[in-house]
Amino acid sequence: MPDHYSFATRAIHTGQEFDPTTGAIIPPIYQTSTFVQDGIGGLRGGYEYARGGNPTRTSLETLIADLEGGKHGLSFASGLAGEDALLRSILKPGDHIVMGNDVYGGTHRLVNRLFVPWGIRLSTVEVTDLDAVRATVTPGTKVVWVETPSNPLMKISDIAALVEIGHAAGAIVVVDNTFASPYLQNPLAFGADVVTHSTTKYLGGHSDVIGGAVVIDDDELADRVRFIQFAAGAVSGPMDAWLTVRGIKTLAVRVERHSSNAQAVAEALVGHPAVERVYYPGLADHPGHELAARQMRGFGGMLSVALAGGPAAARTFAESTSVFQLAESLGGVESLIGYPSEMTHASVKGTELEVPENVVRLSVGIEGENDLVADVLAALDRVTAS
Ligand SMILES: *Cc1c(COP(=O)(O)O)cnc(C)c1O
Repeated sequence: MPDHYSFATRAIHTGQEFDPTTGAIIPPIYQTSTFVQDGIGGLRGGYEYARGGNPTRTSLETLIADLEGGKHGLSFASGLAGEDALLRSILKPGDHIVMGNDVYGGTHRLVNRLFVPWGIRLSTVEVTDLDAVRATVTPGTKVVWVETPSNPLMKISDIAALVEIGHAAGAIVVVDNTFASPYLQNPLAFGADVVTHSTTKYLGGHSDVIGGAVVIDDDELADRVRFIQFAAGAVSGPMDAWLTVRGIKTLAVRVERHSSNAQAVAEALVGHPAVERVYYPGLADHPGHELAARQMRGFGGMLSVALAGGPAAARTFAESTSVFQLAESLGGVESLIGYPSEMTHASVKGTELEVPENVVRLSVGIEGENDLVADVLAALDRVTAS
């Protein structure tokens, strides 16, 4: 797709040419493990064995790379499988990685439980505090890992400033762009080297598939990650890749609605007597509001709320909604509510990534705004009454 087409157009058309044999507007799902050769080594379109490549996966990889403005897209069986392949392509024992102190719990677990025992040194730091980051990177730092907005407190960090600090130390700067989605934020445009996604979330968008993606500009680094993708094999299957492509086609309209609904829910929660604090970048008094307004094209569908009544109130709130369903994950069309300290963030209890026990996280879906606002207000009434 030529660059002058808008995001919404590219999201529907990049890598999605109709089938030349039948005219089918939707490219077929290549549900195949291998490809017949025209004589030994005579590959059609470069496809040989589907761990190495499959046209359905290629269409997803082409699409995600385009939406992130990167040269190479690689898709994986899960977000964490992509992170694992990326980190293994960069790090060797003795190397140092600096990560935000509120990255996704599974990312912290991957590094802390698999890479640290292998000899990687891990430092976690408050990435919104640039001086703290400067004090933590060393000449041995190979990776600076950033997640913005962060989970679940929606902290916003300055990608361009972190890139400057990371590059000065010779590190590769990685941004996990899952929460924003490429519709709201493109980290490569701020100088980041790599973008990672859990496509399970906004990109897939319908809570029906697990997947991950890595987007890289540098040819040599992309080759190394592609080699691990091929050699270790944590690839996305054709049906999963196809479902993700289908989800991405509506990303632009979905994220617009996620964002406007989340803004309405956040504003309805602010000032309620049962609420201590609302964490949403779209609120003018959110600490990262101005930075988010510069760095993002909207504020997204995720927010968290600290309940004035402590952990008991938080539990009551999380268990009292009807439209918002109590479940892990985020980014689907249906609204979800979660209690991070015992759900998504249970694995980081007792570490500095621990989440306050009065915090509840909302993934605001694309249902009717009035229904969502009424649902959280009714649940707060239950909190007040209990
Ligand atoms: C869910 C998530 C991941 C992990 O992705 P999976 O697809 O579950 O492996 C990584 N980062 C963020 C921010 C996530 O929300």
